Amino acid sequence: MIRPLTQDLARRIYGAHDVAVGSARHVLSHTFDVCVIGSGCGGAVAASTLAAGGRDVVLLERGPFRPPKDYTFQALGMATRLGHLELTRGHRTALLQGNVLGGSSIIYGAVAMRPPAYVLDEWQRTTGLEDLSAAALEPHYDEVGTALSVTRQSTALENRPNAIVRQMAHALGRPEGLHVVQRYTAGCAGVGLCNFGCAVDRKGTMLNSFLPLGLETGRLTVLTEANVHGLEGERRSGVYRASAARVTCRSADTGADVTRCTVKARAFVSAAGAFFTSALLLKSDELPHRDRIGAKIYLQPHAQVLALFDQPVTARGEIVEGRYLPFNGVPAIYNFLGFLPDRQFWWLASILFPANLAASVSHLPVEEHAAIMRRYHYTSSVTITTRDNPRRSRVIIDRGHARLDFHESRRDTEILRDSLVHAAKGFLSVGAQRVFMPSLAPPQITTVQDVDAFARRPLAYDGVLLYSDHTSGGTQMGKDSREGVTDGSGRLFDTSNVYVADSSLFPSSCGANPSWTIMALSHRLACRLASSIV
Ligand SMILES: Cc1cc2nc3c(=O)[nH]c(=O)nc-3n(C[C@H](O)[C@H](O)[C@H](O)COP(=O)(O)OP(=O)(O)OC[C@H]3O[C@@H](n4cnc5c(N)ncnc54)[C@H](O)[C@@H]3O)c2cc1C
Repeated sequence: MIRPLTQDLARRIYGAHDVAVGSARHVLSHTFDVCVIGSGCGGAVAASTLAAGGRDVVLLERGPFRPPKDYTFQALGMATRLGHLELTRGHRTALLQGNVLGGSSIIYGAVAMRPPAYVLDEWQRTTGLEDLSAAALEPHYDEVGTALSVTRQSTALENRPNAIVRQMAHALGRPEGLHVVQRYTAGCAGVGLCNFGCAVDRKGTMLNSFLPLGLETGRLTVLTEANVHGLEGERRSGVYRASAARVTCRSADTGADVTRCTVKARAFVSAAGAFFTSALLLKSDELPHRDRIGAKIYLQPHAQVLALFDQPVTARGEIVEGRYLPFNGVPAIYNFLGFLPDRQFWWLASILFPANLAASVSHLPVEEHAAIMRRYHYTSSVTITTRDNPRRSRVIIDRGHARLDFHESRRDTEILRDSLVHAAKGFLSVGAQRVFMPSLAPPQITTVQDVDAFARRPLAYDGVLLYSDHTSGGTQMGKDSREGVTDGSGRLFDTSNVYVADSSLFPSSCGANPSWTIMALSHRLACRLASSIV
């Protein structure tokens, strides 16, 4: 069950300043059983589970510790304080990630979803790993679900944006595709700003679940503002063994306190998120198979389609106990999966805020733009997610900086087009006056004929407002080093003590919101590792 992180437990969380003044000296002098890199869904679960299994663990996190009491309801301010944005090479698609203690869990929408059975079957078939089956992962999904209060939402909470998603499912002839979502909360307050930190602390995150569980054991030490640049180690008889993580500590608020140091351990678990895990492994000299690390990254990208109605869709916020609570139209109650099995996309009601609308109507003349912005509460939006399979994608290190070189396949573009067209037709069929496509130069869409004309136009990722927060791949699991980069336990092939515990392990796009699967895999890895480190 989710529980607040008490001040007492928070005393074991150190930052760059503690390193600079010497109060975190023991972190740098000690040799830990395990060093976990990254404190999001993968890292926090691994660190806490290893500590609960009797191991002496240090967790290194690049971002600072920001407790929920410091979150405001100012969407844009919080986005830069809590998140990190990276662009694929050539500035084509935005990659979003949390950049604080708790990682992306601090800004996720808290939708708890498992991959469809056919994806797990595909993973098992392509990797040859029996323990990737739904049955083998079940106990780990359960453990994680309990710690995070996974709860199926009640349809009694249905608000107007969710009612629109439900009506669209019927209008598109796929009512059976409507699923009531499970979320990491037993009591959502419906504020609607999950992506900017839950200031009422009702959303299950790593800060109110696994991190307190780990800290309570007394065997977990957390060092924030600690950016890991790579591992140090050596190869003997063809097997690599890591001995230390290379770290730069810098205060996130002042930029001061820059210290370079190493943190020593007997085993290392990278959970910096797909992309950053590949980046830091590629920067680790001597590590085997570096020609294959970072190859084939999946984005599972999102696009938002907005629609303008002639009645208000969302309500204005209200003052509760002296604080303004914006009610913007979430939580998402339904996940619409009607087109997932055959067309590889799905959607749910978007977390709305004015900048979404401003971006979608930015091509319009100023006066029209302003007129639509004044009708913000008359708009609704769905967030589409597509299951991609890129033509080519690879993390490359360019003058010390990691970049993602990403090229979608023709099939990816067709899935994206199909998803936009269906969403637009769905909106029009439930009474939208006008639909805004997330492309850079969209036509005016008020009729089905306009949508059909849009469907005939050329489309590429370049011309669409796309973003990814479901990035995966880069160190895919496989039966042997010809098939994968990591084995079924997440250990890098031909290393004795380097593991991965994030979505880098996924053999392909998971066809679901990924956090629950990341945590289940990480939990399994940590249970095994706790009893096997020598
Ligand atoms: C806005 C948003 C909404 C989302 N909504 C949902 C949702 O509703 N449901 C769902 O299932 N998923 C959702 N996701 C996706 C989900 O949050 C991620 O898939 C998941 O958190 C990834 O876990 P992770 O441990 O791999 O990485 P993260 O949670 O991103 O954690 C990685 C951590 O590593 C740190 N790090 C990176 N590099 C280094 C380094 N070199 N040294 C030290 N630390 C480093 C980062 O700062 C970060 O804290 C959402 C994500 C975002 C961004």
